[in-house]
Amino acid sequence: MPQAAPIHGRNRQRPPTETEKEAHAFYTSARWRKLRAAHLQAKPLCVECLRDSRYTPATQVDHRIPRAVDRSKQLDPANLDSLCASHHSRKTRRAQLGIS
Ligand SMILES: [Zn+2]
Repeated sequence: MPQAAPIHGRNRQRPPTETEKEAHAFYTSARWRKLRAAHLQAKPLCVECLRDSRYTPATQVDHRIPRAVDRSKQLDPANLDSLCASHHSRKTRRAQLGIS
């Protein structure tokens, strides 16, 4: 199966789009970093792994409703989920393919 080029690849072949620049600005903002750190501290386990009774430390904070869908919820603590790297990349991949 052909693999699409990763958006956050190390060897970027093209200049970043406005959407990517905006996302970068958001994810590096002090407000997001603070909220993300607080969320991981409050909910340190991957919520998807927990459904299978597995206890996996979360390393990512995911937006339940993606920023692309509703920007107003990007800093809403109720819109965040703690995920492990594996579940986060799976979800991100589905979102890129247009499957939610
Ligand atoms: Zn997980």
